Amino acid sequence: MSDPRYSVVGSTYPLDSKQRALIELVESLGPRFAERAERYDREASFPHENYADLRAAGLLGLCVPEKFGGRGADLRTYSIVSATLGKYCGATALTYNMHACSMLWPGALSDDLDMTAAQRAEHDRHRAIHYQRVIRDGAIYAQPFSEGSAAAAGRAPFGTTATRVGGGWSINGKKIFASLSGAAHYYGVLCTEAKPELSMRDTLYMAVPGNAPGLSIVGDWDPLGMRGTVSRTLLFKDVFVPDEAQMMPRGIYFQAASRWPHMFTTLSPTYMGIAIAAYEFTVRYLRGEVEGMPPVKRRMYPTKQIAVAEMWVKLEQTRSLFLRMLEDARVDPPKDARLRAYAAQFTIMENANYICGLAIRTCGGQSMLKSLPLERLYRDSRCGSLMLPWTAELCLDRIGREALYEAGESDD
Ligand SMILES: Cc1cc2nc3c(=O)[nH]c(=O)nc-3n(C[C@H](O)[C@H](O)[C@H](O)COP(=O)(O)OP(=O)(O)OC[C@H]3O[C@@H](n4cnc5c(N)ncnc54)[C@H](O)[C@@H]3O)c2cc1C
Repeated sequence: MSDPRYSVVGSTYPLDSKQRALIELVESLGPRFAERAERYDREASFPHENYADLRAAGLLGLCVPEKFGGRGADLRTYSIVSATLGKYCGATALTYNMHACSMLWPGALSDDLDMTAAQRAEHDRHRAIHYQRVIRDGAIYAQPFSEGSAAAAGRAPFGTTATRVGGGWSINGKKIFASLSGAAHYYGVLCTEAKPELSMRDTLYMAVPGNAPGLSIVGDWDPLGMRGTVSRTLLFKDVFVPDEAQMMPRGIYFQAASRWPHMFTTLSPTYMGIAIAAYEFTVRYLRGEVEGMPPVKRRMYPTKQIAVAEMWVKLEQTRSLFLRMLEDARVDPPKDARLRAYAAQFTIMENANYICGLAIRTCGGQSMLKSLPLERLYRDSRCGSLMLPWTAELCLDRIGREALYEAGESDD
């Protein structure tokens, strides 16, 4: 276990033995991931080697329920594991979020939702197929939802449609920023059942095989940060998927999005990890302990000490809200917990970038060189508050509106 100041939960947070073992496992993989991170970033290439390690460690099944052969992690356990990964490689943690949540949402989260007996039976049949692919075959799932419209923000139906055809569905549309493009074996696509009028209530969640006829990956990928996510554009032209492609029964995604809001906080652990990494780097750098650098100490300057103090205060504010938010996570959370989840997401995403900025200012010019991780942490951290559906802007929108209006209220 690393110095508890640099662990996600610190030394006194209550963990069960399963959580403790998972953190130790990820901590043991982490240094290898950190070594490879520079190359994935430079090449904007997918972290295949890291996924081979995750697969070998049984971590692709982290959120697969135990009865389907997985490790049965709930949202809180997933988030702590993911933040630990985020300390070592942001792109691996962010893409792992897409895969792990493809397992968590049809798993522990769906178990909390209302379904008829027939829906529950159908769901159990379908998810057994998805889980078996992961546990037996080592498959990786992605979550391409964004379309460049108001849909990914939860304000309009997805323009990608699924039309009922014999024995399954025909999918047409486009997804942008599809992390794991070209690397995923299945793309968990949100689309709308094709009816004369599209409705968010008819959202379907379908796993499309990466090699399905009619699916193509287009566009380049050369972004500022999170370069290893390889988030290109997917085009769907009459892509057929059978009924069992459904990852949730009809109508259940819509129910999940309104009743299990913490499902949208799962991108934030990556950035919690990045914030910790930036702080840890700064302390080591100022102490002259960064590997490969001359052992020059810079810790004796009061301005550096104040900057490190400010970083710690920000980090602890962020971490405390992160851990509190995880305690709130449940189906049908009370209003204060929902508002706190928006605040936590906003805080983690914004503070991660702020802490990375302070780290660069404090460590100085040499720390910005590409041979050291800080400039990559800085660029990766910039992406957090842009991630839909809970961007920093949309969190503020929701906090303001939901504080001032009760459900169903308007000024008309
Ligand atoms: C590294 C990276 C990886 C990603 N991976 C994935 C992925 O795997 N799957 C996926 O689905 N998406 C992914 N995304 C996409 C991400 O979640 C956003 O969808 C994307 O950044 C939005 O870009 P845009 O410019 O099209 O946003 P726009 O839709 O143009 O929105 C711009 C901003 O306006 C605000 N806004 C948007 N809609 C509304 C509204 N209705 N009301 C008020 N304000 C609004 C939001 O703050 C938003 O950030 C990824 C993005 C990045 C940067």
